[in-house]
Parts: sequence; C-alpha cells; structure tokens
Amino acid sequence: MQSLLEKFKDFIDISPNTPRISLGEGDTPLVWSRMFDQKYGFPNVYFKLESCNPTGSFKDRGMVVAVAKALEKKAKVIICSSTGNTSASASAYGGRYGLKTVVLIPSTDVPISKLAQSIICGAHVVRISGSFDNAMAMVKALEDSSVLTVVNSINTDRIEGQKTAAFEIVDDLGDAPDYVCLPVGNGGNIYAYWRGFHDFALKAVSSKQPKLMGFQASGSAPIVDQERVLSPKTIASAIRIGNPANWEKAVMAVRESNGLISKVTDREIIDAWQMLASQEGIFCEPSSAAGVAGLLKLIHNQQLSAQQSIVCIITGTGLKDVSLVEQSDIQSSKPFQVINDLSELQVFLRKL
Ligand SMILES: *Cc1c(COP(=O)(O)O)cnc(C)c1O
Repeated sequence: MQSLLEKFKDFIDISPNTPRISLGEGDTPLVWSRMFDQKYGFPNVYFKLESCNPTGSFKDRGMVVAVAKALEKKAKVIICSSTGNTSASASAYGGRYGLKTVVLIPSTDVPISKLAQSIICGAHVVRISGSFDNAMAMVKALEDSSVLTVVNSINTDRIEGQKTAAFEIVDDLGDAPDYVCLPVGNGGNIYAYWRGFHDFALKAVSSKQPKLMGFQASGSAPIVDQERVLSPKTIASAIRIGNPANWEKAVMAVRESNGLISKVTDREIIDAWQMLASQEGIFCEPSSAAGVAGLLKLIHNQQLSAQQSIVCIITGTGLKDVSLVEQSDIQSSKPFQVINDLSELQVFLRKL
C-alpha cells in the first residue's frame, strides 16, 4: 500500500527527504447510512470510518506526518499529552520507528484499553496530576529541540496529515459534501478538515467547501459557552477538554465554512452511540457519536434539507473502551439469560 505521505505529497507540507513511513493509515471506508435514509428521509448521509486506522482513531493520519518529520530532523524522543488516542498512536509509530515515546496522561479517566496500547508498545507512560489541560500546559511549555518533538495537535505537521481525510472524502464522493459533522475536543481535527477542503477547492479539485458542524459535549463545551471549563465532564473521554489547544483555529474553521459549533448532552451522545451500533453496525467511541447526535438534532430542528450530502466523521473505535457499554444503562446490556438445555433454547428462539 502506498504511504499517505507519498499519495498526497503535492498537498501536504513535506519535502522529498521526509521518509515515506506507514503503518497502513488512511484510505478509510466511506459508508452510506441506511438509518438516515430509511428513518429520517436523508438519502445522502455517509460515515467516514476513521476508526479503521491502525491504532483505531484518526490520530494516525497526523501522527504519521509528525513522526516522519521527527525522523527527518533526527529526533530521538517524541512526547505528547493525551486523553488516550494520541498516546496510543504516538506509541505505535514511536515503537516501530525506534523513537523513545513519552506520554503524559491525566491522573484520572484515561480508558485502560487506550493505555494498554501505549504500554504494550513500550512507551514511557507518566501520570500528571489533574486534568488533561494540566498535562497539555506542560507539553506546551516544552520547547521543540533537535532531539525532542512534541506530537500533540499543536504540532502543525499533525494538521497536515489530518487534512488527508478531507481529500479522501472528495475523491470518494466526486466533490465535497454539503456538510461535515464531527466531534470537537482540542479543535485540531475540525481545523484540519477545513484546511483540507479549502486546499482542494483552491486547486479546483472540488467545486465547493462543506459547512463544518462541530459538536462538544454539554459538560465540556468551552468553545460553545465561550469560557474555559475547569473540570470538564462527559462520558466521551476523547472530547473531555476544558481549554482547547486549537480554540481559535476551530472557531476560524467554523466561521470560514459558514458552519456552526454546538453542544449535545451525554444522553444524546449515548442514544446516538447505541443507534449507530444497533442500526448501522458501527461500534464507535462515544466521542465519535457526538457528531452523529449533533446531526440528529439538526434534522430534528429542521435545520437541514433532505437532499444535502452529509458526512459524519467516526473518529475512533468503540473497542477502545468496552466497559462503557455496561456503565451507560443500555437496554441490551441487562444480565444475560441462562439457558440449560436445547428445549429451553428452542422456547427462547420462538419468543424472539
Ligand atoms: C482526538 C479525538 C477527538 C477530538 O479531536 P480534536 O482534534 O481534539 O478536536 C474526537 N474523537 C476521537 C475519537 C479522538 O481521538
């Protein structure tokens, strides 16, 4: 498979000397939504399955470029603060390409499966007291040096790589969609989509740019509420961010695209999460479901017309935190019924 860097070298800021490394990131499926067609009469809704990236989230698109650039300048160490997915991604690329990887995680609330990804890849995992935002403040204060590269989304190489998801959407649909719905945490991704769609429109690869519709969780919505949140709360750990690192860039992306940034409750996130799994076969992270919850709300409030083409970004896989299924009072997670023999099984099957 061709490296994402090679495939899009004319559109991202890399040099001929940047190593064309790859763990197989990118080229993720764009899947048509049956539910939005049949249940809501919106026949042109698609899901971009960024959960299919090598470590299970879109972070790999940015990380492949950030790590390639780190290797190009002969760095020895990469470091990031993370609610889980950035560290999982950094650890995989760092391990494969021989970089020491340091990940700073908040002292609470990082799902064990995400942490496991870093541990098994041999990263140095450090707990920082307080929330993600404390860890981020420390990383921001570190200077990039010839040996050390910060691989958070404040690293502009990350943004370059993440633009490629927008390129793929245009390639798959034949043009840009009318809307893109996605969750917003630190705001790097919504900005990257804006940059990607903007670049393709400038070069006349596409005829238009989509409106970017970003969604935060209501317990963690600093951009919507225009105020830092000191202890952000939401089931959606990847967007549990009280002081977004790319705040201004996210606002710019929304403004320039005539989109919006809004919030959804945890209840709405959980309902959309369950709906995606049970009706579309997509088991994603709750954070990813925030974008879909937002779309459902826009449709419910009659803010969209049915013929428009809409892409929801499924940012990460549900396998990252399976314990949430039990915790979030989902109907089908009731204790399982016990069946003792074949005749009981036959009775059970007749009642389905
Ligand atoms: C990182 C992440 C987000 C948030 O993206 P930002 O660029 O921080 O806005 C959303 N969902 C998942 C699964 C993530 O890993």
